[in-house]
Amino acid sequence: MSLDKIFDIAIIGAGPGGIASAIEAKLKGIEKVIVLEKADNHSDMIRKFYKPGKRVDKDWQGKKFEFEGNVTFEECSKEEYLEQIEKKIQDAGIADKFKYNHHVYGVKKNSDGIFEIGADNELGVIQAKNVIIAIGRMGKPNKPSYKFPPKIRPRLNFNLDKVKPGEKVLVVGGGDTAGEYAYGLVDMDIGCDVTLNYRRPEITRMNPTNKEIVERYIKEGKLKAKLGVDIDHVEPVEDDEVTPPRVKIVYKDGSTDIFDRVVYALGGTSPVDFLKNCGIELNEWGEPIYNEETMETNIPGLYTIGDVVTSQGSIALAFNHAYRAIKDIAKKSK
Ligand SMILES: Cc1cc2nc3c(=O)[nH]c(=O)nc-3n(C[C@H](O)[C@H](O)[C@H](O)COP(=O)(O)OP(=O)(O)OC[C@H]3O[C@@H](n4cnc5c(N)ncnc54)[C@H](O)[C@@H]3O)c2cc1C
Repeated sequence: MSLDKIFDIAIIGAGPGGIASAIEAKLKGIEKVIVLEKADNHSDMIRKFYKPGKRVDKDWQGKKFEFEGNVTFEECSKEEYLEQIEKKIQDAGIADKFKYNHHVYGVKKNSDGIFEIGADNELGVIQAKNVIIAIGRMGKPNKPSYKFPPKIRPRLNFNLDKVKPGEKVLVVGGGDTAGEYAYGLVDMDIGCDVTLNYRRPEITRMNPTNKEIVERYIKEGKLKAKLGVDIDHVEPVEDDEVTPPRVKIVYKDGSTDIFDRVVYALGGTSPVDFLKNCGIELNEWGEPIYNEETMETNIPGLYTIGDVVTSQGSIALAFNHAYRAIKDIAKKSK
């Protein structure tokens, strides 16, 4: 299915903030809307993190909220809340706007003022005039399926923060982040011996620039490559002279190698990384700087709402943020 067209609004995340945005947009007569959600259903955080039967409070944690917009909910149990929300989506006639199982990695504004949404390519190129980021705060980097033995955990990382000069480092992954980490470490010129491991034999998921640099560095011998083989498991080097012990990588073909550090870049981003990737200005707590009346960030047309902008979020607050953002978008589109 290809969706190569320009949407008026692309909404990222189908939690309370994203859902309310889609409903408010419909009420304003804005039809070209897409909601991209990485899980296989809406309200995923609530489904996963609320206990069965949990009471869903309007004034969550004692903070009083009046609903500003058209989307509200009655206090009830978790299960009833999910039913209420499902009904609201159906009644608004917008269920087809929700595209599930699509993880968004970032958003870029092109020179023509149109946003391009970085997701998998299954839906084609997704472009939008406005973007609402409603990804909450629960994002985490993806982890491999094998266990991390506690002894070597400090040496198994998800970014380059802990890499020290002279280390032998394995970067795992085949996407842009993996590529940028791998050649970035070489470019830092701090004496690291860098290997890139990707389970596929060819690099296909990187953008052309990253792919070109990675392939060139491999050819020039600046970067080692271990392609076409997946890691089976990792284990501590037995009786190693350093603490914590180094990491022994055991590949699925039976080959092994030893590294000081392993950096995983397997997709999935923390909310802060996501916002940074989009070029949004953040305050010292890693929260976006935005206009409270409109929820617009420093990038015109790019809005952040719900838990991603505040550590003290609630469903009602996310609904209100959605109302403010859509009101602003509708006003500007007139
Ligand atoms: C245990 C618990 C109990 C709570 N109880 C209450 C309560 O009783 N009343 C109340 O008002 N509030 C409560 N809250 C808070 C409330 O749930 C949140 O404030 C609210 O869900 C925030 O909505 P949101 O849309 O901003 O984010 P979320 O609900 O976190 O939704 C974000 C959505 O974005 C998706 N997503 C994330 N990253 C990406 C990506 N890169 N690409 C695509 N999709 C992505 C996620 O899968 C998710 O569906 C509770 C919170 C917790 C943890």
